Amino acid sequence: MAGTGAILCVINVAILAILVGRFVFLNDDQTEDLPVTKFEESYDYIVVGSGSAGSVVAARLSEDRDVTVLVLEAGPDDRGNIHLTIPSDAAGFQHTKLDWEYYTEPQQYRVYVPRGRVVGGSSQLNFMVHVRGNRFDFDKWAANGCDGWSYEDVLPYFKKYEDMADEELAKSGIRLLQKLLKTDVLKNIGARLHSTPMPQCTQHQYDSDEYWQCYVRVLTICAFHQCCTCKMGALNDPTAVVDPQLRVKGIDGLRVADASIMPLIVSANTNAASIMIGEKAADIIKGNK
Ligand SMILES: Cc1cc2nc3c(=O)[nH]c(=O)nc-3n(C[C@H](O)[C@H](O)[C@H](O)COP(=O)(O)OP(=O)(O)OC[C@H]3O[C@@H](n4cnc5c(N)ncnc54)[C@H](O)[C@@H]3O)c2cc1C
Repeated sequence: MAGTGAILCVINVAILAILVGRFVFLNDDQTEDLPVTKFEESYDYIVVGSGSAGSVVAARLSEDRDVTVLVLEAGPDDRGNIHLTIPSDAAGFQHTKLDWEYYTEPQQYRVYVPRGRVVGGSSQLNFMVHVRGNRFDFDKWAANGCDGWSYEDVLPYFKKYEDMADEELAKSGIRLLQKLLKTDVLKNIGARLHSTPMPQCTQHQYDSDEYWQCYVRVLTICAFHQCCTCKMGALNDPTAVVDPQLRVKGIDGLRVADASIMPLIVSANTNAASIMIGEKAADIIKGNK
């Protein structure tokens, strides 16, 4: 489809794209800071959402200098926000304007569901745990009608973005942890259970079964890995929204590339797989796969 003038919408899709700088980026909060001053009348591709997957899609598509790409991001530009570069600050962005701040429909309890609303999407709010998922996750995707998405198929896309830098960072982190564990300060700290009663559970005796049951319910969180709402599957699978080429069934020129297309959640945190989806989507669109 590249260069044909077809409009492509990819819902919910990193910083990578912005770094490449070959596409137009729009948002509704910082129009005075737009990195572009001139707009085209039409674009070859429109990518809606510059999150983990979308930014990769936009970055890869814009590697072709003859292709024009428009990125529409609802949240603000991430540049200039020093806190976004400090991993330990991640939780501080919850309940701010960089968070869509969703809540589940109330049943007995409502669960808070943070989602990034900023260039980089949820990868800006996440805790940077990088786990691919395992071979069986992706082989199950393929077995469920997602041709081309087996572990052997997706492994090159993980490898494409996991460079030496990642590896070095992980290694130095582990070494630091090993050193810290040998310090007198940590060795001398006696580990013990937190015994301050949970305020919402004081009607139960501390350490009773009822107390812990209440404790667990009050502390229920969503774990931040929502996915699979726009399932990828075979064309004849009535529960699938997109086909293995990520095309929305029944609609021309519209693809979805983000965590929502996972047919089954990976046995891992979901950011790495979302970026892989962006990488593979870009290749599919370019006609490489
Ligand atoms: C608090 C938190 C912690 C997490 N921790 C980890 C972790 O440590 N490790 C891990 O692997 N995963 C983690 N995750 C999950 C991981 O970050 C997500 O699975 C991944 O970022 C999803 O990528 P995505 O491309 O599907 O969506 P997102 O990255 O959420 O991108 C969606 C983008 O689309 C934009 N958008 C939405 N609607 C519109 C619209 N109408 N118009 C324009 N733009 C729009 C949004 O603003 C956003 O920028 C965490 C998530 C959260 C929220």
